[in-house]
Amino acid sequence: MMNPFSFLLDALYPRRCRCCGGPVDRRRKVDIGSKFFCDKCASDMHPIESPLCTVCGVPFPDGSGDDHPCFECLSQPPGYTAARAAVEYKGTVREAIHIYKYRRLRAMQEFLGPLAAGGARDFFPDADVAAAVPLHRRRLARRGFNQSLFLAKYAARTLDIPLNLDGLSRIRYTRPQVELSSAEREENVKGAFAVEGGDFAGRRVLLVDDVYTTGATVRECAKVLKKAGAEKVYVLTVARAT
Ligand SMILES: [Zn+2]
Ligand SMILES: [Zn+2]
Repeated sequence: MMNPFSFLLDALYPRRCRCCGGPVDRRRKVDIGSKFFCDKCASDMHPIESPLCTVCGVPFPDGSGDDHPCFECLSQPPGYTAARAAVEYKGTVREAIHIYKYRRLRAMQEFLGPLAAGGARDFFPDADVAAAVPLHRRRLARRGFNQSLFLAKYAARTLDIPLNLDGLSRIRYTRPQVELSSAEREENVKGAFAVEGGDFAGRRVLLVDDVYTTGATVRECAKVLKKAGAEKVYVLTVARAT
């Protein structure tokens, strides 16, 4: 039912779209995204569709033919079993991730979390333990929360599997990947992760992160998870650079 005070609320505190700043009608039906974004921005989403690489999940630009491994994955297998993302890293999701991470608006997980949950259900229903790409404790102290851990919680809850909180850890402080070139990213995260405790042996691990850019971080995490005996490492991100 319509909140009788919503007219008044709108008049006193107009709700603004977090993406374009335009007005958001408080009285319309609330669905995913509509709490934060206007209708136009809430629909500015770009699902990743076939044909795509069966390993790293990159969509093929010509848009025809079947899914198959891409050239990069064939010539240098990435170490994880498969990587998938719900949507492309652009438009409103890109904005939402920035707000979530850098402006530290934790409530944005209500928009991003269900995307992670849907991805888990669609792509990796047989995963049996979830883990998040960890932050170094220095960055965690600065940001206050690990954005990927919240997303992993949504995914784990949806699949009804345990979320391993601290088995995978970041043992070396690294520069933010976002400042670096592709080759530098690879170098930057080398040896940055370790599995300390956490029972991953024989498990199908769902490794969750917010964005897949070059994949350097998740490849490095997959390496240590495999070394710890993981049978499979599935990489799930909300968004993927294309
Ligand atoms: Zn908008
Ligand atoms: Zn690939």
